[in-house]
Amino acid sequence: MANHIVTPDGRRLKKVATRTTTPVDDSSAKAVNVEAPRVCYNMPDEEFFPLMIRLRDKAVRLMGDRLAELSRWNAADRDKVLLWFGEDSDTTRQALSDGLTRMREIMRGLAERNFVKFTPEGVRAVGCEPRKDSLAAASVCKPDGTYTIFIGTIFCDMEKEANRYDGIPFAKDSKLVTLIHEVAHFPKSMNAKDHWYNITNSQGRAAARDQFCIDNADNIAAYVVNVPNWRGDVPVWRP
Ligand SMILES: [Zn+2]
Repeated sequence: MANHIVTPDGRRLKKVATRTTTPVDDSSAKAVNVEAPRVCYNMPDEEFFPLMIRLRDKAVRLMGDRLAELSRWNAADRDKVLLWFGEDSDTTRQALSDGLTRMREIMRGLAERNFVKFTPEGVRAVGCEPRKDSLAAASVCKPDGTYTIFIGTIFCDMEKEANRYDGIPFAKDSKLVTLIHEVAHFPKSMNAKDHWYNITNSQGRAAARDQFCIDNADNIAAYVVNVPNWRGDVPVWRP
């Protein structure tokens, strides 16, 4: 991997960005390096990176499926939007079409260098203050134009995907759901927030017609992954 340097004391650093820094009279580009130990404690990088690339490709495909549905807009397509966003107005349809188009471009552009083990120093290197309560599976730094995704141990412990035997996704977190959740946060993607967490909660908020569903990362992730309505009530998207 060409984007790594090794310090004299043997730490591996990964180049995540090149940018100009202070002082203001020095406009030369500096490499921004963050420490790069093995990303997941339970998986060698040689397996981790191909897995992330596979999940990225699946996420791109899933967004393509949703975009096709948003353009077709039949009763089932509208039901899925109702299920995860609590309404199926033209405004919501348009916001999803535009948002998923941007989000797909960003997802498509992700490469190995975008996935970095979570460390407080790494988060500071791209311009954020690490959260004290940082138990998140993964996190991003919104002002960071490099689209770095910080991977925590909870992420490493998750299933790759949480699907039934026939491939229908459960209403459950997974590496795939988390990847989509994180990419939804980027300001140039959908600038999503974490008003609440968890897919089951998200379905409940949509059923209550909460206006923040369109703005919430887990609602967007559940919709993109195509989680059906396992509760069996309306709206009816069922496997
Ligand atoms: Zn989040």
